[in-house]
Amino acid sequence: MSVVPSNEPTFRESVDLMYNRAVALMDLPPGLEEKIRVCNATYTVRFGVRLRGKIHTFTGYRSVHSEHMEPVKGGIRFALAVNQDEVEALAALMTYKCALVEAPFGGSKGGLCVDPREYDVHELEQITRRFAYELAKRDLINPSQNVPAPDMGTGEREMAWIADQYARMNTTDINARACVTGKPLNAGGISGRVEATGRGVQYALREFFRYPEDKAAAGLSGKLEGKRVIVQGLGNVGYHAAKFLSEEDGSKIIGIIEHDGALYDERGLDVEAVRDWIVRHGGVTGYPDATHTAEGSSVLEAECDILIPAALEGVINLGNVHAIKAPLIIEAANGPVTAGADEVLRDKGVVIIPDMYANAGGVTVSYFEWVKNLSHIRFGRMQRRQEEARHQLVVDELERLDVALGDAWSMTPSFKEKYLRGADELELVRSGLDDTMRIAYQAMRAVWHGRDDVRDLRTAAYIVAIDKVAASYRAKGL
Ligand code: GLU
Repeated sequence: MSVVPSNEPTFRESVDLMYNRAVALMDLPPGLEEKIRVCNATYTVRFGVRLRGKIHTFTGYRSVHSEHMEPVKGGIRFALAVNQDEVEALAALMTYKCALVEAPFGGSKGGLCVDPREYDVHELEQITRRFAYELAKRDLINPSQNVPAPDMGTGEREMAWIADQYARMNTTDINARACVTGKPLNAGGISGRVEATGRGVQYALREFFRYPEDKAAAGLSGKLEGKRVIVQGLGNVGYHAAKFLSEEDGSKIIGIIEHDGALYDERGLDVEAVRDWIVRHGGVTGYPDATHTAEGSSVLEAECDILIPAALEGVINLGNVHAIKAPLIIEAANGPVTAGADEVLRDKGVVIIPDMYANAGGVTVSYFEWVKNLSHIRFGRMQRRQEEARHQLVVDELERLDVALGDAWSMTPSFKEKYLRGADELELVRSGLDDTMRIAYQAMRAVWHGRDDVRDLRTAAYIVAIDKVAASYRAKGL
C-alpha cells in the first residue's frame, strides 16, 4: 500500500517534479520537455475469472510511458493498492532507468489490483493467465513491443505462466520466450536474474565507495566493511542486497524493517536467519535473536551509515523526513522518497543514490535474458572451452618454467585452478551487471561534480537519462 501522505503530491506528480527540476537545467528543444515527460498511454482492463463458484472481477493496468525505443520494458506488480497514478509513475521511472543504464528499451509498467495471499496457486495461475491474455491480445505483451518482468508480488512463477500463455496464443512465434523476462531457468530464464536487483544495489554501493569525494559528501570514509546498514523490506530486493552486503562486504545489517515491525541489533543481524523466520512465520514478530519494535518506522529513523528503503514508495515523506539520521540513502525501491522529502534531505546534505540507478540491476539482467532468448543460446556456450584451452597453453608454459627454475619461482597454488576455469553464464551476467552499474554511476557523478548547478545524484541521473532519450528523439527527426 502506498504511504504517500495525502497532503503531498502523488507518486506520479513527485516523479514529474523531480523531472522538471532536472529539465530546468537542460536546454531541450521547445516542446520536447513535455513530450518526454508525459505517459504515452495507459490501458485499463477489467476482466472476470470464475473462482470458488463465483465470478471475481479484477482491474489491471499496463502503462506505456515512452516508445522512443521498442520494445518497452517494465515489471508487473500484484498488489491491492495498484492504481493508475502509481503505474504511470513507475512506467516513467522505467524510461529513465533504461536510458541511464543503456538498456535499449522504452519504459512501461503494469499492475493488477489483487492480494496474491488471498488465492491459492491454481487460482493465481488462472488470474495471471487471464490478465496475460488481455494484455497479449493488444500487443502489451510481445517480444518486440512490450516485455514485462517481475515486480512487487510477482516472481519467476508468474513470468513462466505469462510466457506460456503468450506462446499458446502465438504458436508460430520463434521468439515467443522473449515476451517476458524473469522466467525460471528451465523456461528460458537466465542465471542470476532473481538476485539481480539486490546484486545491483551491492555493485552500486561498491562503486560509490570507490570515490573518496563521494563518500566525503555523505560524511563517510573507509570501506563498506563494518558500515551499519538498515534495510526496509526483506523481499527479493532487500533480502539479496542485505545478504550480499553482509556476507561479501562485511557490512553490519543492524536493522530490518518489515510490515509487522522491525528488528534491531547493534552487533548485526543474521540476514539468512531472519529471512527464514519471515518465510515460516509471515513476519519478523517473535524472532528470538534481536530486539523487536512493533513501530517499525522508528527504526527507519535510527542512527546508521546506510539506509536502504527496499519496500514501498513514499516511505520517507514530509511526515518523517526531519527524523531521518542516515547520511547515505540508497533507493532499492522505486520512489521511496517523496519530492518534498528529497528537498529537505538535500538541504541537510544527505546523499541519495537514486532509484532509477540503484535498482536498475533487475532490468539490466532482464536485458541480458531478452538477448539470450532472441539469440537462442546460453551465454558462454561457444567460448567457454576455447577460453579454457587457451589458458591451458599458458599454464603448461608456466609449469615448464616452474620445473626449470626449481625453488626460485613457483605458481601460487590456487592460480592454476582459478585461471583455467572459463566463465559460465552466471559469471558473465555478473560481469555485465557490474560493468553496467559502474559506467552508469560514472556518468551520473560526472554531472554531479562537473556542474555547479547540480547538487545531487538524482538530478544528475535525470539529466543523463533525459539527454539520452532526447538524443534518440533527435535521431528520429522529431
Ligand atoms: N520491476 C523491475 C523494475 O522496476 C524490473 C523490470 C524489468 O526487468 O523489466 O525495474
